[in-house]
Amino acid sequence: MSPRKPPSRRPAGVTPTGGAASAPRAASALAATTPWSYAPAPESREIVSIRPRYGLFIDGRERAPIDGEVTVTYNPATEEPLAEIAKGSPADADRAIEAAERAHRKVWSRLAPRERAKYLYRISRIMQERSREFAVTETLDSGKPIRESRDVDVPLAAAHFWYYAGWADKLDYAVPGRSPESLGVVGQVIPWNFPLLMLAWKIAPALAAGNTVVLKPASTTPLTALLFADVCRQAELPDGVVNIVTGPGSTGMSILTDPRIAKVAFTGSTAVGIKIAQGIAGQGKALTLELGGKAANIVFDDAALDQAVEGVINGIFFNQGEVCCAGSRLLVQESIADEFIARLRDRMGTLRVGDPMDKNTDVGAINSRDQMEKIAELVASGVAEGADLWQPACDLPSRGWFFRPTLFTGVAQSHRIAREEIFGPVLAAITFRTIDEAIEKANNTAYGLSAGIWTEKGSRILDVAARLKAGVVWANTFNRFDPTAPFGGYKESGYGREGGVQGLHAYLRMS
Ligand code: NAD
Repeated sequence: MSPRKPPSRRPAGVTPTGGAASAPRAASALAATTPWSYAPAPESREIVSIRPRYGLFIDGRERAPIDGEVTVTYNPATEEPLAEIAKGSPADADRAIEAAERAHRKVWSRLAPRERAKYLYRISRIMQERSREFAVTETLDSGKPIRESRDVDVPLAAAHFWYYAGWADKLDYAVPGRSPESLGVVGQVIPWNFPLLMLAWKIAPALAAGNTVVLKPASTTPLTALLFADVCRQAELPDGVVNIVTGPGSTGMSILTDPRIAKVAFTGSTAVGIKIAQGIAGQGKALTLELGGKAANIVFDDAALDQAVEGVINGIFFNQGEVCCAGSRLLVQESIADEFIARLRDRMGTLRVGDPMDKNTDVGAINSRDQMEKIAELVASGVAEGADLWQPACDLPSRGWFFRPTLFTGVAQSHRIAREEIFGPVLAAITFRTIDEAIEKANNTAYGLSAGIWTEKGSRILDVAARLKAGVVWANTFNRFDPTAPFGGYKESGYGREGGVQGLHAYLRMS
């Protein structure tokens, strides 16, 4: 390791927009840690050529938006504009749905299933071949560390296409004795935290089941979806099978409520999920909602503590905590709480926060200024409600939207930071004494997406996992994803499953 040239420094504080940075308690709690110095290891952006302006991808071609309106997508790490993006209108949505409907009726639903499979395999292979381009584009547009785009988002996205390609000619085995058929045109709306991966979760099973798609990416992260449009062209996917309509939430609503849409698949916040369920009520559309979460990561006193610390760190700081299934509530057994928190702080002190394009970065940029402000507001509420805030004394870049990793102790279950989804690098620690108390506290949330259990005792894992109201429960690990495994929630985390054969069922009509 050679000494790293210091980037321009921001004075000790949390955010450029204030928030908890200005709280005296936060400043006094900043820990003095030994800085680790790493030589810069920047990924080159030469491999991508981001154009100044992008249109919509409709019927196999790039098209200008009918009313000519555009928005801008920014690099969250520098606050610089990356490109102008078409702002799709209801008229654009109409064109895309028309193209998808025609492609379904005339081409895709008539194609031999094994031919559909070939296209999916081809898409997966091209994504792998162009993986570096996807990873760099994703990191520039979203702010997530290049290591995560490169090692998690892109390989998993390609793996979803590969996995569902395998199902395309075996649908009769997916639902034995039920003669499954495609539904028609599917409307899909996705969030900004895993832009390419969420696209793959949506498009791969839909196409494998014989449907065609109109997808709207999040307005702050459209670039990998538009690069994916290029992959569709390269794979010579028939025109209209995949259509990408960029734009704000209203564009999404005009797609999803169109009567020609047979199925709606939405991933995003619970508030918007409710609006969508209301918007399409009574239309007879199939609906899956993948919404927010407030997962408990439960550490019992017999757990391997250092491994549990790593799991808790991964659970909340992976992708800056902008993860629906983030382990944002640490439930730690009282008898080990002091030691565990001390080890956790030591580990937090070694996290490298900064340039997402640097291969050494652990915590990158927050996706947007709006999200930064939301995190800062919730962190300030934690301080105001009486929880104890601690942050490592790491330096933050002087530009861009960065938030210091944050740990709250002394958290009551009534605090907003224990109840609301923060969607940022903020962990709320709560103690418990007995197994029953741990389960009661873990389930004391409106959400039910995921949970983690850390214990050496197998029987305890089985007992606790069965009693947790969460769609996914990890034991002695966290944030593990696999295309073969279904993912989804309970309660306000939504309904329906994505991934695995269950994810395929959502795109099929059973006769
Ligand atoms: P969001 O709900 O604000 O936006 C999600 C998408 O919906 C975006 O494309 C947005 O443009 C669109 N949208 C907004 N308003 C709309 C409307 N009225 N009608 C139709 N579409 C509309 O969410 P976000 O801030 O982009 O993402 C963060 C949220 O997503 C978090 O709550 C997170 O937990 C959730 N999420 C869930 C999962 C999961 O699998 N459960 C995965 C990733 C993210």
